[in-house]
Amino acid sequence: MRLLIAMMKHETNTFSPVPTPLARFGHGPGPLYGDAALKAYRGTGSGLGAYIELAEREGAEIVMPIAAGAPPSRRVDNDAYEHIAGKICDAVRVGGFDGIMLDLHGAMVTEAHQDGEGELLRRIRTIDAKTPIAVSLDMHTNLYDAMIDNATVVVGYRTYPHIDTYDTAKRAGEILLKAIRGEVKPVMAWGNVPMLPHVMRQGSDDFPNKQLQERCAAMSKDGALSATLFVGFPHADIHNAGLSVIVVTDGDKSLAERLRDELLDRAWGDREAFVYKLKALNESLARAKSIEPPKSGEGPIVLLDHYDNCASGGTMDTTAVLAAILRDGLDNVAAFAIFDPESVQQAIAVGVGAEVTMSIGGKVAMPQIPGESRPLTITGTVKTISSGRFRNKGPSSRGVQMDMGPSVVIDTGKVEIAVISRHVEPNDLNCFYTLGIDPMQKRYLMLKSRIHWRAGLGSLAKAVVECAGHGVCTSDYSQLTFNNVRRPIYPLDLPKR
Ligand SMILES: [Zn+2]
Repeated sequence: MRLLIAMMKHETNTFSPVPTPLARFGHGPGPLYGDAALKAYRGTGSGLGAYIELAEREGAEIVMPIAAGAPPSRRVDNDAYEHIAGKICDAVRVGGFDGIMLDLHGAMVTEAHQDGEGELLRRIRTIDAKTPIAVSLDMHTNLYDAMIDNATVVVGYRTYPHIDTYDTAKRAGEILLKAIRGEVKPVMAWGNVPMLPHVMRQGSDDFPNKQLQERCAAMSKDGALSATLFVGFPHADIHNAGLSVIVVTDGDKSLAERLRDELLDRAWGDREAFVYKLKALNESLARAKSIEPPKSGEGPIVLLDHYDNCASGGTMDTTAVLAAILRDGLDNVAAFAIFDPESVQQAIAVGVGAEVTMSIGGKVAMPQIPGESRPLTITGTVKTISSGRFRNKGPSSRGVQMDMGPSVVIDTGKVEIAVISRHVEPNDLNCFYTLGIDPMQKRYLMLKSRIHWRAGLGSLAKAVVECAGHGVCTSDYSQLTFNNVRRPIYPLDLPKR
């Protein structure tokens, strides 16, 4: 058996100013190719890790032209997209494959295409009309016809935070292998409803997504090979942003349609529970101060700077929440993190133990949202200097190499501020340990995150206080101008279905 395995992943925040060149894909200067890609992902708890394991179990020859994943940011540069899609298509052109296994995101917008994944699959199908294709997608997929029309089986995550990337690809890959052996004939039905679930209300530990995902899983008892409900990615001003469903069955199209409709009806019925209620920053900090300090053995009070999540396209350099923490005099705080490569170099130049005064953050303009991003002047001691490289402890992407770039911690006396050079969302304990910070010793932990922090830290937190700051992942959707998303759409409008 000969299998083509590849990864092309990007969640595009069309409101983000953060560029998406080829260099953003991968953990070094760009994507990984061939044996280097295989080596990096073999044995990891990632989608590629699952595909590789399945292929090796089958004794298959693996061709892996490229593994390219970038943190969320603005539309993908055309050059980067053509390079990545080109590598995959070149491999398809060589031919002789029994199956193609793709680890994609499902919300990639390029300078030229609203649906980057659909465009890739369309190109593959133009070269090779027959070889079965499995696609594994993120729960934040914004789904289009072209993804379904040009694939054999499409499957998505069931958890947010995403701790089932491995399981999802495994599910897609197993169905594909059965299809290759002629044991099943996958058919798919997909659909959407006009609603944009709020990211802060999308967690799969919370109602209603928890119950919706449980129903998806239970549909295997009703005859589904796979059922997926995508909550969608709302920070994308594209036609199909929002919630969608795809059900795969073994040759039974009407069953797939019936199960799809059930999921869409349930999600639509729950739409009000997907709306987020904003709180003012000063009220949030007052609440944080009123919470009893953690006792021995209790974890920190998490202050969630949710407007500026780099894993949703945030610049990670806004300072509104950190400035308020300093102004209010909160003590024993660790803040993760401010993205500011220049400030990192300034701190490295003075060295560990030296005092430094510097202006951090506020350097990246955000023309698509209101308000000015301001730098923050801090004075403190350089506590840590680090390469910023670590492997995830898990459960999210266990074992995968991460790279914050050169990183420092500045200790102001009350607040330890991590300053990093590459975008990494704090969703794993090792991003703190690498910088010499033990979250369990802190009263407060400021995190630039929305839901993913729960993967590695959720069970530790004594309490969570959501802090409205500033940034392109704004939780106030009235700050976003939607020109391309289909209208009417709930809750921007009040449509009937
Ligand atoms: Zn996602």
